[in-house]
Amino acid sequence: MAASKTRLSARFVARRARQAYKIATLGSHSALQILKGARDEGFGTICVATSDRVSLYKRFKFIDNIYEIPKFSHFPKIENKLIADSAIIIPHGSFVAYLGIEKNKKMKVAYFGNKKVLDWEADRLKQREWMQKAHVPVPRRFSKHSKINRPVIVKSYGASGGHGYFFAKNQKEFEVRIKNFRARDFIIQEYVIGVPLYIHYFYSPLSKTLEILSIDKRYETNVDSLGRIPSQNQQGLGIEPSFVVVGNSPLALRESLLVEAFAMGERVVATSKDLFAGGIWGPFCLETIITPQQKFSVIEISCRIVAGTNLFINGSPYASLYYNKEVSTGRRIAIEIKEAIRTGKLKKILN
Ligand code: ATP
Repeated sequence: MAASKTRLSARFVARRARQAYKIATLGSHSALQILKGARDEGFGTICVATSDRVSLYKRFKFIDNIYEIPKFSHFPKIENKLIADSAIIIPHGSFVAYLGIEKNKKMKVAYFGNKKVLDWEADRLKQREWMQKAHVPVPRRFSKHSKINRPVIVKSYGASGGHGYFFAKNQKEFEVRIKNFRARDFIIQEYVIGVPLYIHYFYSPLSKTLEILSIDKRYETNVDSLGRIPSQNQQGLGIEPSFVVVGNSPLALRESLLVEAFAMGERVVATSKDLFAGGIWGPFCLETIITPQQKFSVIEISCRIVAGTNLFINGSPYASLYYNKEVSTGRRIAIEIKEAIRTGKLKKILN
């Protein structure tokens, strides 16, 4: 009887502690997943939405408060309100895209994740240095045009969502195409032939464990549909491959490849701790291409929740290997925050 009373009061204290905090994010990208996951773990939720999206977020009962702003760039104006609410911000892809790195760094409201990762992620060369130090295979880079000896993809620094690229099958084609390429800063990378695959990791600084929560494959137009027209019919049409993302589909990886998928993730986390204080924690994604030799080549790292995780709001085959409930990446973040509150380690996971 006494033991069950103690258990009850411990649960009550934990609930009160959790209720003191609210989980907040910008209404975009993976906000629904993040806020649904937060509610499933017992947190109050706040969505900061631009006027044109308020009607969307009002549809969902798991969102307690919607703070309306005219434009994403007005986010700093409601920061004090969020601080007064003891809100914890969960950054997603739109935070960097709409607010930029500097506004993210300057945010005073509690922020889940390590802001030091922002500079390493934003610079394609620094990303590459990180991957190479972690012994993660990356596509060959050509710093001199004259050295191009294979098909290449040229990426501007600001590219995202598959925009801002061109493909050249050899140096001759590169020299012609570069003349019409507007970007000043770009990287020339070997075009790796294989299957693009995005691995969604979560690293817990509390338990020091790495999980693979889900995996997706992007559907990109037109590169994923070129095979629908036989090559002899394409001749003369002047079709160029493009990589604009239109959707994502779930993927279960061949089990033997999981060994390397975990090992790469672990090396990336370990190396990050050498490169910047605290290293990376929370969700991140290695964007890979698997070659016919079944070797991974990592084309990019995203250092927060990625949109492909939206496929798994009800959990995934991988998440169910760790949890006996439906755990999305959004919910996994809330689980980590809950655990940090319970153990008095919130400072360790916030910036
Ligand atoms: P996001 O930031 O949304 O991930 P991004 O535009 O930076 O977008 P990347 O992942 O760098 O995205 O590349 C977009 C697409 O271009 C990839 O999904 C892949 O299809 C193709 N791609 C990029 N780099 C290579 C490469 N080295 N070899 C083959 N294909 C590539």
